[in-house]
Amino acid sequence: MHTDPNCLFCKIVAGKIPSKKVYEDEELFAFHDINPWAPVHFLIIPKMHIPSLAQATPDHAALLGRMMVLVPQLALQEGVNPYPNGGFRLVTNTGEEGGQEVHHMHWHVMGGPRPWLRG
Ligand code: 5GP
Ligand code: ZN
Repeated sequence: MHTDPNCLFCKIVAGKIPSKKVYEDEELFAFHDINPWAPVHFLIIPKMHIPSLAQATPDHAALLGRMMVLVPQLALQEGVNPYPNGGFRLVTNTGEEGGQEVHHMHWHVMGGPRPWLRG
């Protein structure tokens, strides 16, 4: 599997940097954001180093589909209230103008009662 030894999130996947794990399987990893904006705020990432959604290709379609289906399951597991009165927000910042700071693709899942710190 492709990883980048200098990448922060590859180091988190490898356990070289500690994180509060939400979920792990062979392909995917999810963990709490260190600086949450909302009562529930976790990140879901592929274990393989894909810099951003901009590099997604048809080869990644199954992986991305699995990630997407996992989002509502993990959101409920982590305590968001059910749809439609609860719900969550799914965000992936892509590139500099998209506001991306860590260049290993990650999807933010945010939820829980308002107000939130941002958004
Ligand atoms: P971006 O701005 O790239 O979309 O989001 C990067 C996110 O990673 C930010 O929300 C930031 O709080 C989070 N983050 C940065 N460094 C760490 C870290 O070392 N551990 C964890 N758990 N989250 C981090
Ligand atoms: Zn990486």
